[in-house]
Amino acid sequence: MYNSKSQNAEEFIDHEEILSSLDFGKKNKNNTELINEALEQAAQYKGLSHKQVAMLIECNDADTIDKIYRLAEQVKLKIYGKRIVLFAPLYLSNYCVNGCKYCAYHASNCDMKRKKLSQEEIIQEVTALQDMGHKRLALETGEDPVNSPIEYVLESIKTIYGIKHKNGAIRRVNVNIAATTVENYQKLRDAGIGTYVLFQETYHKPTYELMHPKGPKHNYAYHTEAMDRAMTGGIDDVGIGALLGLYDYKYDTIAMMLHIKHLEDTFGVGPHTISVPRIRPADDVDVNIYPNSVPDDEFKKIVAVLRLAVPYTGIIISTRESAELRAEVIKLGVSQISGGSSTDVGGYAETEHQRENTAQFEVNDHRTLDEIVNWLSQNGYVPSFCTACYREGRTGERFMALAKTGQIGNVCQANALITLKEYLEDYAQPQTKQNGEKLIYEQVEVIPNPKVKVLTKDYLEKIYDGQRDFRF
Ligand code: SF4
Ligand code: SF4
Repeated sequence: MYNSKSQNAEEFIDHEEILSSLDFGKKNKNNTELINEALEQAAQYKGLSHKQVAMLIECNDADTIDKIYRLAEQVKLKIYGKRIVLFAPLYLSNYCVNGCKYCAYHASNCDMKRKKLSQEEIIQEVTALQDMGHKRLALETGEDPVNSPIEYVLESIKTIYGIKHKNGAIRRVNVNIAATTVENYQKLRDAGIGTYVLFQETYHKPTYELMHPKGPKHNYAYHTEAMDRAMTGGIDDVGIGALLGLYDYKYDTIAMMLHIKHLEDTFGVGPHTISVPRIRPADDVDVNIYPNSVPDDEFKKIVAVLRLAVPYTGIIISTRESAELRAEVIKLGVSQISGGSSTDVGGYAETEHQRENTAQFEVNDHRTLDEIVNWLSQNGYVPSFCTACYREGRTGERFMALAKTGQIGNVCQANALITLKEYLEDYAQPQTKQNGEKLIYEQVEVIPNPKVKVLTKDYLEKIYDGQRDFRF
């Protein structure tokens, strides 16, 4: 029985509720009245219900899809402006006791070179990432209580925050580790993590169990209820996601909406971010066995509908996707992207020659961070290395309150320009610097609050003079 406030995974992600929503969507996919009602609601930044999402993702009328895309662009522009937040994943260890069929780190992959970074190697990796210009990391590690226990993760976070190399610093460490206990989430909170990220992979229980045949991750309820434990442990910002293509992507999109509603109804605040990865080729993984892969057009529709459904939740896309597709979905609603990424353990400090078989999956966008910054700038987007909210204590409900009243826009734009300026001064290639400076010159005028605008101009001057780390 569906109950959004239940503590039980199978009640807040209720299979029958998802099926009836999909059925509602199929029956009403051409219901102009209901579709217009949903689009009007979304145009007022009020989001969409899971049933409305089902209706829009079922819709295959070209004119309506075009309307959805245009509205998603409008909502994105109003709430996020032209800013795109940049981050990089950092793989600490690929030891894993689980058997996830879609991941090269699965325990039975004997070809995988197993590796765990020492604290010294983490310093080398983070130094390399700082030299690229990154300020925000997503830590990734396989699940292995012996090789990467929570103590190792905590020690690594401390190491990362402590590295100050030239003008570099990692100012926000998001963490993507296996589902764990409330006590361990409290330890992660105390270590000062940004967002705790955990992908559900698929919400469809039989498929979930099939895809995770062994190890602790096999337990559907423990995994699905992880965000409740994280929030109970005091982590305000959580990031959810489904690996689209493992099961019917429409089912998983509706299930994500139910997960969001559960967190909102239970904790008063939904997820900080949603990730929408699609299955990618990887060592010892046959992607051809997944019949549910998501075509590009459907993928774009999902991103656009999610943007309408949860206007204040960041949408993340990784280098799993090609440069071309990333360009399209950035327009439709994506607000954060990774750049210059390596999915190898030790992949940033190693040369191509030294690299061994340690990657989790193949990346599809091979551009350097500088190339991405330049590309965004040339296309009128503001590459942002901002980490200010977490450092100013604007997390969870406090963040959402500011986001929903639109006040956050003032500081986002200013922080984006300040952090871009730092990047241009410290790391950019000449062409990137030229395009970035032109962008800053134009975009500083778009800051809505006059006082913030004046102060931003002052900070930009000071950064040029060598000072760093201003924020609103
Ligand atoms: Fe291990 Fe995570 Fe890969 Fe599963 S997805 S095999 S838990 S690293
Ligand atoms: Fe994100 Fe806050 Fe920075 Fe805006 S000001 S980009 S919401 S961290």
